[in-house]
Amino acid sequence: CFITMEGLDGAGKSTHVQALVDHLHAQGLDVVSTREPGGTPLGEKLRELLLTEPMHLETETLLMFAARCEHLQQLILPALRAGSWVVCDRFTDATYAYQGGGRQLGGARVAALEHWVHPQLQPDRTWIFDVPLEVARERLAQSRTLDRFEREQADFFQRTRQAYHERVAGDPQRLRVLDGTQSIQAVRSELLAQADELLSQ
Ligand code: C5P
Repeated sequence: CFITMEGLDGAGKSTHVQALVDHLHAQGLDVVSTREPGGTPLGEKLRELLLTEPMHLETETLLMFAARCEHLQQLILPALRAGSWVVCDRFTDATYAYQGGGRQLGGARVAALEHWVHPQLQPDRTWIFDVPLEVARERLAQSRTLDRFEREQADFFQRTRQAYHERVAGDPQRLRVLDGTQSIQAVRSELLAQADELLSQ
């Protein structure tokens, strides 16, 4: 089972990725926890470049997919074939949201790369942690040193959030929104309840 976790920076995603992975482990499942961009030695090098180096939008998008290609071949597909659960912190929906929406590349060009790199594979379930822009910005400002993307202006994040919502509208069965303005405990319970539903299918 392939699970991806998405949302604006500051929506609380990372906390909940860990909670989900622990929960699945506790059920005795074999779980591979990974992230994008990254997840392989080459992918982590590309991540470093992507987060620090200014570059053209097309280059950025191609590098995201280059990292993803390596990640799929080296880690995700072998793990799925071996029967493991894979929990991935961001995947192609993030490219639709950030490069397609935030940076205004548009969905069609992201879709073309998606069809090239993983024509058959989609996550079985994607949870999107959603918070209003102001909440995300407020949490980020308090929590860490910002990377190249996190220093973007508010309208960038507004478009990114909008693009996530369009992804949900396009496939509400796969993509589920969790309201990240609730307490961590409340979001966590909802996430784990929905994960149990998935486990029982
Ligand atoms: O989720 P995480 O903080 O690890 O993501 C790293 C950074 O990469 C974030 O600032 C995120 O916004 C950015 N990113 C992006 N496009 C993607 C995936 C991640 O801009 N497709």
